[in-house]
Amino acid sequence: MGKALIIGCGGVASVAIHKCVQNSEVFEEICIASRTKSKCDELKAKLDGGKTKITTAQVDADNVDELIALIEKVKPDIVMNLALPYQDLTIMDACLATKTNYLDTANYEPEDTAKFEYKWQWDYRERFEKAGITALLGSGFDPGVTGVFSAYALKHYFDEIEYIDILDCNAGDHGYPFATNFNPEINIREVSANGRYWENGEWIETQPMEIKRVYNFPEVGEKDMYLLYHEELESLAVNMPGLKRIRFFMTFGQSYLTHLKCLENVGMTSIEPIEFEGKQIIPLQFLKAVLPDPASLGPRTKGKTNIGCIFKGKKDGKDKTYYVYNVCDHEECYREVGSQAVSYTTGVPAMIGAMMLMTGKWNKPGVYNIEEFDPDPFMEALNKWGLPWKEDFNPVLVDAEPIKDKE
Ligand code: NDP
Repeated sequence: MGKALIIGCGGVASVAIHKCVQNSEVFEEICIASRTKSKCDELKAKLDGGKTKITTAQVDADNVDELIALIEKVKPDIVMNLALPYQDLTIMDACLATKTNYLDTANYEPEDTAKFEYKWQWDYRERFEKAGITALLGSGFDPGVTGVFSAYALKHYFDEIEYIDILDCNAGDHGYPFATNFNPEINIREVSANGRYWENGEWIETQPMEIKRVYNFPEVGEKDMYLLYHEELESLAVNMPGLKRIRFFMTFGQSYLTHLKCLENVGMTSIEPIEFEGKQIIPLQFLKAVLPDPASLGPRTKGKTNIGCIFKGKKDGKDKTYYVYNVCDHEECYREVGSQAVSYTTGVPAMIGAMMLMTGKWNKPGVYNIEEFDPDPFMEALNKWGLPWKEDFNPVLVDAEPIKDKE
């Protein structure tokens, strides 16, 4: 059916690439391009031999001219940006210049300010529309599937959704005292930032990890979870009519938090450059270099993830609640694609999002968040491609659990 250019060859990209190759009817050809070409070549060597034709290339995705030259050479139907959020705008610029569809899994973040916001990418709306191409923003799990779940809940079960709680639980154990499950720099920037949620049209800011709840996750058990700001809150607050409150919670074990606090206290999570032996270094980037590579966690991680959304709203004038979630097993993911569940749960929706655009199921020029499309074909594809979902029409709500003090 078509050709995809995949930029980045890290944890998430590796899963997406495995899945594209499994789905060779749609992905007849892929080009894997990244900063370190040897990683692309290694993956190609592992996956070659099937129906999907694989090529590789070296590219610096911070450089728009290099990207344009590559896109012109490969002539893909879509560019899948699975590099880092810092590259979103350069890749979008190159897509505009070459009139090519675009997809990513995380919103733009300037490298020197830990601030992620959609405003930069939403600014491209008119230009994408005029060029007749589509940018699908946030096609991972969260953001991504959480937006699809929201659109699905609204389409099938509610007249109006008033409350959404997104719950992201990772009960995986990799056996290291401290490691992050995806890019450490991005992960630590996210969890050391202030928390924020949206209520009655306003953003309410909290201290990092200030709000804690305990939730008994299906198939996983009871876990501590903390309110974080997460990027899909911004788009869902705009795109879900009638919404009164939306929050995001992520589980963390006490040991992870103690390590993080200690690293923060000694300045290791800072993104302010410092002078070290005559060289400028960024402490957080140095920390990334000494932490285990997230890709190496795959063979060691046991346990499950459970990510989903609890909705509360109205149907036919009556109160209604609905919980939809996916449970993913780290070891099963590793057996299938050689990666743990955090990369798996992001890489599969990235492939599905690209498939939606390539097959024309989702087709409207402009820049869109995932909840702005028809959720049904995506929900069906989740079941088919490894992320089946479950529903509960009488879930325990987050605030029905006892509120524990901050530790
Ligand atoms: P990794 O660090 O494992 O991989 C990033 C890849 O991008 C590497 O291959 C890296 O190359 C490449 N890269 C970085 N900078 C450049 C550049 N300038 N030019 C070309 N290639 C570059 O990250 P992950 O796979 O864990 O994450 C990928 C993306 O997915 C991130 O944006 C992350 O925020 C997002 N994500 C989204 C989630 C969701 O649910 N929506 C969940 C988890 C992650 P090199 O090998 O040379 O370093």
